[in-house]
Amino acid sequence: MLVDWEALKREIADSIGIEKVKSDIVTLAAYSRDWSPRPAEELILPHLVVRPESTEEVSEVVKICNKYGVPITPVAGLTGMGGGAIPFYGGVIIDTKGMNKIIEVDTKNYTVTVQTGITIKALNDELEKYGLWLPHDPESKPTSTVGAAIACDNDSTFGIRWGKMIDHLLSAVIVTGTGDIVRVGYRKAYCSSSGLKLHSLLVGSEGTLGIITEATLRVVPIPEYRWVDGAFFPSITSAVDAARKMLTAGLPIDAVNINDKYRLKFYTHAYRLKHGHDPEVPEGTEAILFYSLSGDRDVVMFSRDYARKIVESYGGKIIRERDIVESWWKSKHTLKFDPFKQKWPDSQREKKFGAADVGVPPGRLEELHKRFVETVEKYGLRILGMNIYNERIGCISPSISCAVFVGDSEDEVRRFYDYVKEMSRIAVDLDGTSSTYIGDTWRLLDVMDYEHGKALEYMRRVKEIFDPKWIMNPGKKFRLPKEIEEKYRRMRG
Ligand SMILES: Cc1cc2nc3c(=O)[nH]c(=O)nc-3n(C[C@H](O)[C@H](O)[C@H](O)COP(=O)(O)OP(=O)(O)OC[C@H]3O[C@@H](n4cnc5c(N)ncnc54)[C@H](O)[C@@H]3O)c2cc1C
Repeated sequence: MLVDWEALKREIADSIGIEKVKSDIVTLAAYSRDWSPRPAEELILPHLVVRPESTEEVSEVVKICNKYGVPITPVAGLTGMGGGAIPFYGGVIIDTKGMNKIIEVDTKNYTVTVQTGITIKALNDELEKYGLWLPHDPESKPTSTVGAAIACDNDSTFGIRWGKMIDHLLSAVIVTGTGDIVRVGYRKAYCSSSGLKLHSLLVGSEGTLGIITEATLRVVPIPEYRWVDGAFFPSITSAVDAARKMLTAGLPIDAVNINDKYRLKFYTHAYRLKHGHDPEVPEGTEAILFYSLSGDRDVVMFSRDYARKIVESYGGKIIRERDIVESWWKSKHTLKFDPFKQKWPDSQREKKFGAADVGVPPGRLEELHKRFVETVEKYGLRILGMNIYNERIGCISPSISCAVFVGDSEDEVRRFYDYVKEMSRIAVDLDGTSSTYIGDTWRLLDVMDYEHGKALEYMRRVKEIFDPKWIMNPGKKFRLPKEIEEKYRRMRG
């Protein structure tokens, strides 16, 4: 036997307490999936599930796993859409959700320090008592954690005003693959030219460098008022141009989503349920721009009217059916809808939502859209539509969801991942990038060379500094060295 799992379990239990270590089949099975499309028959089980409650306990567990040379997969809310938390080689799951305390709310310096297993919603519910807000706001906030938001560099509805986790993360604590506890970043300083920005390196590291256990984040005052609007446009380009003009005019825009015409169904589904018929959509509509403005009420109301004039001057038509706009906002922010009724026209019980999450510069969006429609057809998938989020502060900065419906047959799942890889290569060819919010995980291993070339070798060396034995989330982001992959395959059995 390559690993004495019973001895490993005993050591971990002696170190952090038996009640935090599980190996019964029901618990193991609960960690075999996230939200990524997978074949129905697939069952990938870890050997052990461990639920530490502090940085020190994580460090103890990692040191023991390091000694035995077994894989560790960090897990949070399991809503990841790329298989990042699936333990492909078995081994030990470290479930981070037990580390969910708020360590400090600093109202003078506008920072919060947390254990990273706290969900974004739980954190914002607490911050609200202080009139504060972490504006990193993915739709999955009720279950997805601060640690995972850092680890997979996911998108936020309010990215165009406040950026992504990289813009909020001031400092962090990471337990590396050797069990070392390392503080990175600049305490509560908002900027620094000192040293190398190792805390930024954690953003998008997908658990491959270690487990992020604490984070100090910049927070902001909750805005007094918000207005949400939407408009139909004859092209993606005209919607982009109108949104850019709103920014350059100085309007307090805090969310910008541009949807293609296919994706509109996503938001008209609830309308149809309520009114019994489809809403009127102007002929020739190719894009729908949804946006929100926030700040003091008077400023927002003035800006709302100004923005509407901009929409019209770029050939757009303001959506008068407020139910459609509400539907978008509910799905993006308030989440006050019946899941499976309002949001998903086709219900995720039948087919899953799957996406290529690519990024291209604004001038290549129309080209990307054309290639998206062609590629979906090539792989025999059903189109759901394109949604363009914007994730850099104050500019049109596309993070694009090219979504399809995916069933759970082995053949359809394989075609889906082939489609994702092809879309990723297309995006790189269009001066863009293969992933903007899901992460590389295992699904883009074939595309990493294509995107990064020689830089990938430098990334592997950085990885080895944090995790010399390749035990941290193996098989994600980086191809394993051959001998380690062979060892893990035998270990998994
Ligand atoms: C309904 C729904 C809506 C969604 N909406 C959005 C959205 O608006 N924007 C968006 O970008 N994504 C969205 N997603 C995708 C997904 O929710 C996010 O990417 C989210 O960040 C995953 O968080 P999680 O807590 O579920 O992490 P998990 O799926 O458990 O883990 C994700 C990755 O992070 C790693 N990890 C987790 N915690 C740590 C840690 N402490 N240290 C190191 N590594 C860690 C894991 O190993 C894994 O690789 C959505 C998903 C669903 C199902």
